[in-house]
Amino acid sequence: MLAEPHTLKEILELSANHFAKHGLISPRLEAELLMGHILGLERIHLYVQFDRPLEEKELEEMRQLIRRRLQGEPLAYILGEKEFMSLPFYVDSRVLIPRPETEHLVEKALDLFSGDGEVTLVDLGAGSGAIAVSLAYYLPRSSVLALDINPEILEIARKNALRNGVEGRIRFILGDLLEPIREEGPVDGILSNPPYIPTAQLEEVSPEVKAQPRGALDGGSDGLRYYHRIAREAYPLLRQGGYLGLEVGAGQDEAVGSILQDQGFIDVNVEKDYSGHKRCVWGKKKKA
Ligand code: GLN
Repeated sequence: MLAEPHTLKEILELSANHFAKHGLISPRLEAELLMGHILGLERIHLYVQFDRPLEEKELEEMRQLIRRRLQGEPLAYILGEKEFMSLPFYVDSRVLIPRPETEHLVEKALDLFSGDGEVTLVDLGAGSGAIAVSLAYYLPRSSVLALDINPEILEIARKNALRNGVEGRIRFILGDLLEPIREEGPVDGILSNPPYIPTAQLEEVSPEVKAQPRGALDGGSDGLRYYHRIAREAYPLLRQGGYLGLEVGAGQDEAVGSILQDQGFIDVNVEKDYSGHKRCVWGKKKKA
């Protein structure tokens, strides 16, 4: 009689082949991450348990997760976790999944502010808190204001601050863009990764992107809706010589650069990400 495949090794192989057939880019890695998630094991520890037989319950769980993944649910939502700037972030379908492209915005901020000691920085539209938490973590003398319009989402950002041990240096503020801190300031830097996908293009994005909250993606008809208001509200809030750093979508760098210039920002420059795409636009507030 033929034995059903049931060891961890066999199930991993079957799952990876199944994922590969469906065109996933990293089939083996995803299979291992799902398996590790079910068994409560780090990937590396799967290898020493290769011959372990899986129980029916575990197999059924694996089948279910594979099904969800193949229906387009992003891996990060299934795992409930995504790494950003080498830090772990809890995520679920209420927040945008932090992206490696956004690390570029944070890296640039670390370059700009690491020599400055006690800086106050703003993460506008904090979502998971990826930007706010990594700024607080890597700039140990900074204070960070994390703003979001949705209280549930702000709780997720707070949870991620706690998880990374920086909750004491982040203030979580509910409200519409920079409105709630209008009377405060001045601050040294304002960073944002606003929604920037043109509404009509939202129909064409991949299932993984489609599964993410529309409010975090939809940038209005030309995708530029938020940049105008952000530039306008950021300028008076910044100290002289302070910086505004914005992530932008494909082909938006020139338009966003002009928006910043029109607002009075100087030294406006575009930064490329690791894949050579123009990804962030930075502007500086003039010294008097
Ligand atoms: N600031 C968060 C991030 O960069 C969320 C951004 C958003 O929801 N548009 O991941």
